[in-house]
Amino acid sequence: MLREGVSFWGIDLRNVGDLAVRAEKLADAKAFLESCQAYSSPGKLKNLRYAASEISVHAEAVRTLGLMEAVRDFVARQGATAHWLSLAETVLPAEHEWVKRVRAARQEFESAIRGADLPRLPEEFERLSGTLRPFKREFITLYMDLHTRARLGVNDDKRKSTLLTDPRLQTLQRLAGIELMPRQQLTDFQNRLAGLKSCFALTERDLDASPICPHCGFRPQTESVVAGGVMLAQLDKTLDDVVTSWTSALLANLEDPITRHNLDLLAPKDAQAVADFVASRSLPDPLDSDFVQALREAFSGLVRVAASLHDLDQTLVGDHGAATVDELRGRFESWIDKLLKGKDRQKARIVLESGAHENNENQENG
Ligand SMILES: [Zn+2]
Repeated sequence: MLREGVSFWGIDLRNVGDLAVRAEKLADAKAFLESCQAYSSPGKLKNLRYAASEISVHAEAVRTLGLMEAVRDFVARQGATAHWLSLAETVLPAEHEWVKRVRAARQEFESAIRGADLPRLPEEFERLSGTLRPFKREFITLYMDLHTRARLGVNDDKRKSTLLTDPRLQTLQRLAGIELMPRQQLTDFQNRLAGLKSCFALTERDLDASPICPHCGFRPQTESVVAGGVMLAQLDKTLDDVVTSWTSALLANLEDPITRHNLDLLAPKDAQAVADFVASRSLPDPLDSDFVQALREAFSGLVRVAASLHDLDQTLVGDHGAATVDELRGRFESWIDKLLKGKDRQKARIVLESGAHENNENQENG
C-alpha cells in the first residue's frame, strides 16, 4: 500500500503524520514475523528462541500495521464519495460558493492529517466522514434546482414543440425568401429556440451515482441558467414582435413609388392579394408561396444594402467623447455615404443586422 501510495480526494495518504517513516521500520518487523512462522504449533512455540524484549521491539510495527489498516479501511469506505465530490467540483463554476467551501474543507483535512498524531488518526477520519456526505447531499439539491431551471420540463417541452410549428414562425420562414427582410432576426430566434433543451428524466438517484445528468450532460458552468420557461415566454413575445416589424417593413416598401410601378406588372390575382394586404394591413393567413413571389417581384426594383448595427454604433459612439449635434450628424452622414457608394439612393434599402462582422456586400434583389 505504501509503495504505490494511497490517493484519497487528491491527497496522498502516505503523508499522514510520520507513517512513511514508520513504514520503513516495517521491513525489520517483517523479517522477524517471517522467522516466527516456523513456530506453527503450540509444541514448536515452546522452543521459541526470542526473549520478551526482542519481541516487544516490534510491537510498534504491529501498531503501524494497525494504523495502515485503518487508512485502508477509511479509503474503502469513503473513497467513492471523495471521488464523486472531486468530479462535482468540475461541474460548477470555480467561483461557486459550494466549490469554495469544498476546497477549503479538503485543505483543512489535508493539513489536519499531515500534522496528525497517529493514534488520533481514526478520530480525524471519523470527523471527515461526517463532512463528505452533507457536501454531496447539498450538491445534489443544488444541481437538481439548476437543472430544473435550465431544462424544459414536460409542459415546457410541449410549449417548445408548439412554437416550432407556430403559424407565425412559418409565416416568417416564407417571408425570409424576400431579400429585404432582416433574416438574421429569424435565425437568432431559431437558434435561441433550438438552444432550449428538454430533460425531465433526471432523478436524485442518478445524481447519487454521478454528479452530472446522465440524460443531457447538463453543466451549469458552460450553460446559461435563465429559466427555460421564462425563455419560452420571451420567445413567444419575440415572435409577435418580429411578425409586426416585418409586416410594417413590407407595407412601407409597398408604398414606395418604385414598387407601385412594379405592382401594375403583376398578374391580376397576385396584384389583388397584395392590394388586400395593403388595405387590411395584415398578412394573409395562410401565407402561400405565390404571395411571397408577388412581393419579390414588387420589390425587384429595390436594392438591399446590409449594414451592421455594430458598425453604426462604432461610428456614432465608438470611443469618442461628448459630441455636438453637427458632429454626430456629420458622422452619420459620412457612414451613410460610405454605405451607399455607387448605389442608386432611390432604390437602396438599408437592412440593419446585429452581427459584429457583417459584410457590406450588397445584393441586387430579384
Ligand atoms: Zn438532464
